[in-house]
Amino acid sequence: MIQDIGMENTKDKIPKSKPLIAGHDYPRFYREFVRNFPDDSSCATYLEQLRWPNGFTCPTCNHVAEPSRQTRGRLVCRSCHHQTSVTSGTLFDKTRTSLTTWFEIAWHMTTAKNGLSAKTLERTIGIRYRVAWLILQRYRVAMVRSERKQLSGTIEVDESLLGGIKHGGKRGRGSKKSIIVIAVEVKEPKGFGRIRMRHITDASGSELLPFICDVVATGSVVQTDGWNGYNNLSTFEYEHQRTVLSSTNDLAHVSMPGVHRIASLLKRWILGTHQGAVSAEHLQSYLEEFTFRFNRRTSLSRGLVFRRLIEQAVVTEPIIEAKVTHGYNW
Ligand SMILES: [Zn+2]
Repeated sequence: MIQDIGMENTKDKIPKSKPLIAGHDYPRFYREFVRNFPDDSSCATYLEQLRWPNGFTCPTCNHVAEPSRQTRGRLVCRSCHHQTSVTSGTLFDKTRTSLTTWFEIAWHMTTAKNGLSAKTLERTIGIRYRVAWLILQRYRVAMVRSERKQLSGTIEVDESLLGGIKHGGKRGRGSKKSIIVIAVEVKEPKGFGRIRMRHITDASGSELLPFICDVVATGSVVQTDGWNGYNNLSTFEYEHQRTVLSSTNDLAHVSMPGVHRIASLLKRWILGTHQGAVSAEHLQSYLEEFTFRFNRRTSLSRGLVFRRLIEQAVVTEPIIEAKVTHGYNW
């Protein structure tokens, strides 16, 4: 059990990946989650294990040794006397929200099939909407860090129009459609692998090609329709397969079944979980969350996905509120 390690006055080194429960270093069920994280100190101990799996490492002098433990979670390096905490320099830096709340939100965000909105969190765990919204936004930034490995094999790429996204902020200049580009790994004989998505300003080559170069490994087969935005794709190191359709768009799902499927799941998620309350400036954050969850849909344990998110959060730099208020700069 994680509580056994103790936060105060222990001289023992933190053991390597100490199992939480019966060989698992993550809670498997909500009951285990509640039992393992009853207070901030148990959350902090878990963060320590994930951040310093080989024992506390001083961020200033890199000295590895059990720190001297002071009140309010302060850790003091025994070599250079630098004072720090497990949350400093991470996504949780200087937070005024309790770690148990952060953990609870991470748990629900990763274990609920479709995630959840700030409105739902306000209603169910009783925290202010704004606080919930900011935490969700910060976790979305942490999620993108774990999506670094490029897609490979055979990839479908196509654009999709997303309606109902609010443009122009609070003044509400009405909603118009947003353009997103979607890349999907296509598996043989059927099924899909991982996905990536980007909110783009227009469907020109100068938006589409950089997206493909960022998310698709060279040497892959890239399937697109006949749109001229993809014209120069073969000048990069891809095998470009084009399916030129007749003028009707109704056939899009026939030639790009993967993209079509993802686009419809995405639309359903934004309309369902978020009731369409997504603005254009924040759309990319939502795309990152959808991608994170979709790419882990086959994970055997949702608790493992929770652990991944917390793991990412301790290696993600602090994000000040102003940076997410008007859309994170991806
Ligand atoms: Zn030090």
